[in-house]
Amino acid sequence: MKNTLICPRCGNIKLYRVRRNKLMCSSCRYEWRPDRLPLRLRNDQWETILRHFIADHCSNRISRETHIERRRILRALLVLRRVIANDLVSCLDGCIIDILDGLSEAYPLEETRRRPLYVFLCQRKEIYATAVPEEGRSRLVEELMGSKVCFSVAQWREGVDVKTRRYTHRVHQFENEGQIDLVNRFWKYLWGSLIGRGGIRYRRLPLYLAEYAWKFNHRNTSKVRQRKLLLDLLSY
Ligand SMILES: [Zn+2]
Repeated sequence: MKNTLICPRCGNIKLYRVRRNKLMCSSCRYEWRPDRLPLRLRNDQWETILRHFIADHCSNRISRETHIERRRILRALLVLRRVIANDLVSCLDGCIIDILDGLSEAYPLEETRRRPLYVFLCQRKEIYATAVPEEGRSRLVEELMGSKVCFSVAQWREGVDVKTRRYTHRVHQFENEGQIDLVNRFWKYLWGSLIGRGGIRYRRLPLYLAEYAWKFNHRNTSKVRQRKLLLDLLSY
């Protein structure tokens, strides 16, 4: 998690240097050149995909407008979200990262049948967002309480009808009022962007949350600069 190099195919971080300056993933055995953009897409193709990604366009539209198969677009978006998620942890202190690592190991999202919690952390002026199964809630709160981080948890509430059934978030700990305001603004932004889009598998949820946290953190960055930053992340 602390390493910036990850396998573009499966997201694994244990990599070996192999012949011809390539890297090989210890998990899926994929080999690639770290100095090239992933997935055999040309730089201009990546640039166009990034432009659509920053504008929140769906994969169907990106595929239609770039004339690249939808399957490849989905692959590209997955790679992109992985590098973003990997980059986003840099806004947290090491000890907080360890707590989150421990939680995701103890409570794998693949195994939960209930709607996961959305977890928001705020350090300095940046938001970090991820998802944890509800089963891990008490441990999460216990471990983060007293640490130097502002955190908020959004939990699914079962209501009697559609109107009362929803996610509600609560800030558990903060150091200054500004953090509450920031988390609330992020929640509103996320609600508008993510919640409307269905069909996200639970295990992929942290990647989408990372995407929106990254976009939120860069909301005052120009689109050109955002594209440059994302290209840098992709080219390791
Ligand atoms: Zn791999």
